[in-house]
Amino acid sequence: MSASLAASDPSIKAAAQTTGPSPAVMGTYARQNLVFARGEGAWLITAAGDRYLDVASGIAVNVLGHAHPRLVAALTEQAEKLWHTSNLYRVEGQERLAERLVGVTFADKVFFCNSGAEACEAAIKAARRYHFVAGNPDRWRIIAFSGAFHGRTLATIAAGGNPKYLEGFGPPVEGFDHVPFGDLAATEQAIGPETAAIMIEPTQGEGGVNIASAEFLQGLRALCDKHGLLLVLDEVQCGMGRSGKLFAHEWAGITPDLMAIAKGIGGGFPLGALLATEKAAQGLTPGTHGSTFGGNPLATAVGCAVLDAVLEPGFLDAVRQKELRLKQALAAVKDAHPDLVEEVRSQGLLTGIKVKVAPAEVVKAALAEKLLVAGASDNVVRVLPPLNIADEEIAEAAQRLSRALDRLSPPAT
Ligand SMILES: *Cc1c(COP(=O)(O)O)cnc(C)c1O
Repeated sequence: MSASLAASDPSIKAAAQTTGPSPAVMGTYARQNLVFARGEGAWLITAAGDRYLDVASGIAVNVLGHAHPRLVAALTEQAEKLWHTSNLYRVEGQERLAERLVGVTFADKVFFCNSGAEACEAAIKAARRYHFVAGNPDRWRIIAFSGAFHGRTLATIAAGGNPKYLEGFGPPVEGFDHVPFGDLAATEQAIGPETAAIMIEPTQGEGGVNIASAEFLQGLRALCDKHGLLLVLDEVQCGMGRSGKLFAHEWAGITPDLMAIAKGIGGGFPLGALLATEKAAQGLTPGTHGSTFGGNPLATAVGCAVLDAVLEPGFLDAVRQKELRLKQALAAVKDAHPDLVEEVRSQGLLTGIKVKVAPAEVVKAALAEKLLVAGASDNVVRVLPPLNIADEEIAEAAQRLSRALDRLSPPAT
């Protein structure tokens, strides 16, 4: 944030005057000095009663907004019965959610965990073990893409390949070969005798809302079939209705062998999952992988409620309608600020605004207008509203964003 912006804005000044973040919390995030007391739909509300329009959705997590009555009911009902048993026993909600997911996707099997990184980690392990049990222990390398983000564990930062996230953590986990996103020829060239799988986000989120073309995804599917590789999709961010389909790969008319999901699937309750075909799941036999909390009764009760809502007739049609509205509204914002906005791209309600200033400046200026957006890569601002955001709220978000941009001066050229 520029000093002048803070000085000129009383709401930011007021926030800065409250007690700052506790030093007891480890400093792994560059947080806004802002605390919310409660949420209602697309709104987050401070203890002082200030209302912020939230089109960041906890980074594409709150697909039904905050405090959705159906999710609150699902969680509190379960909370009164049973919280946790571990995976030493059958978990009813887990079986119900797995069967629901299997019923509406390519998958035959589901493994539950608690986060996106864990889901990706499970996908990597499943891909390697698949070849191991098939008698090909030398096939363990995975082709991944520039701009990828798969999480913050040691294996997933290696899969992501972003030098910023790898620095200082010792030798990266071996076995990831990176090629340019969208380059089919380079992908085929990178395939060797040790290649086990190709791993990709159909639409990159953290990388700046980069949308793989249907042809590219179809090409990857064909390469996997030709070379006996597993196609691993990371739909942690673009999945669960965010793209306007239940899962983004449906736009390309292909199916993966493995798919990591998280973020939106718990609607705000921590939940991740690895979906697999029967074949791709064959390596993960008893004792090969696990998670104490994975698929616990609270998480899966909420997961079932989220899936029910997203699969209700008309819900995904409405997401696509809202995308059109948001696109139109943001096109007007771009027209009004050609010196600041370069491009708007979207798939469903996963929207990236390519800006000519640092995204953090836009995030700060939006805060001053009580609008919550999220940065991505070094030149993109994401608008990721709840999938059930109201049309008036879309218009309101665009107006606030436009006013936020009014606060910024274009980059010096
Ligand atoms: C957020 C994200 C992850 C990591 O999820 P966490 O829950 O933060 O571990 C992995 N892949 C993609 C595509 C993501 O957007």
